[in-house]
Amino acid sequence: MLYYFETMELTNVYFRKPSIFIGILAGLCLGIWSYFDFSENILLVLAFHGVSEDTRVPWEISFPKLKGYIEKLFFFGYREISPEGLENWLEGNHHHGKFFYVTFDDGLLTSMEAMKKLKTQFQIKPAIFIVTDFLGRPGYLSEEDTAELASSGFLIGLHGKTHETTLKKNQEQLCSDLKNAIARLEKIESSKIRWYAYPFGEFDQNSIKAVEESGLKYAFTIEGHEVKQEDSRLLVPRLMYLSGAELYQEPVLEDWLPPRSFRKGCLKVILSVLFFLFAIIQSFMRGSPNKKHGLYISSQ
Ligand SMILES: [Zn+2]
Repeated sequence: MLYYFETMELTNVYFRKPSIFIGILAGLCLGIWSYFDFSENILLVLAFHGVSEDTRVPWEISFPKLKGYIEKLFFFGYREISPEGLENWLEGNHHHGKFFYVTFDDGLLTSMEAMKKLKTQFQIKPAIFIVTDFLGRPGYLSEEDTAELASSGFLIGLHGKTHETTLKKNQEQLCSDLKNAIARLEKIESSKIRWYAYPFGEFDQNSIKAVEESGLKYAFTIEGHEVKQEDSRLLVPRLMYLSGAELYQEPVLEDWLPPRSFRKGCLKVILSVLFFLFAIIQSFMRGSPNKKHGLYISSQ
């Protein structure tokens, strides 16, 4: 009686099974790992200025382009966060998911028109940061416009009494300006002003202290990144729209459309599928007996 051991059979037993196991395990691990990329919590606060069909300065945006950004945000799974939700996030109570919030600086009439259109078309309610000395000037919101926006549910924030940088004033001057501006806005809006955006996004320790002493609760910069857990509520970063910023390697909203984590997740899913395919191919592979490498052993 002869026993025949095929070389391929030996390979199947000792080498092919571990490779199937490794393929399935790697596929599963990558699949599970990708879940964390897709479910990453993201909060983006966006800063815009004027909205014009005939953009003349890099910080102006056309409405179709703005609308395109909002459509893309929704397409990639972002949802608008409410002002209360944003405040909660900044206090450390993160919502699960991807969120955005739109803000407009300077209190321009074109911003107000865009805000109304965004509310009608997307049911989102952006915030607007007002410079109180600009109220009623040509091209800027009047007190009546501001009151109308507030009564329509849009958040009104302060962007300063004047649009001067806070870096040139001492704390006393800044506090006095901020308190005057807050008093004027609160009279128009009939509720507490809690949000502030630093003019030009510029700040220092002096201005941060002045903002806090004036009773403002949340202050926004234009440090271009998503809101992180460690960010101070008085230095909330915003991604400011600036045409051509990507040419200077500045962060732009497109960097989050899709989010970087989404791209990483997709790569892991592709790798996961490849590992599963590898395991399937391995399990179906049947080597034909190669008798040249066979070994006959006689039992007698
Ligand atoms: Zn401004």
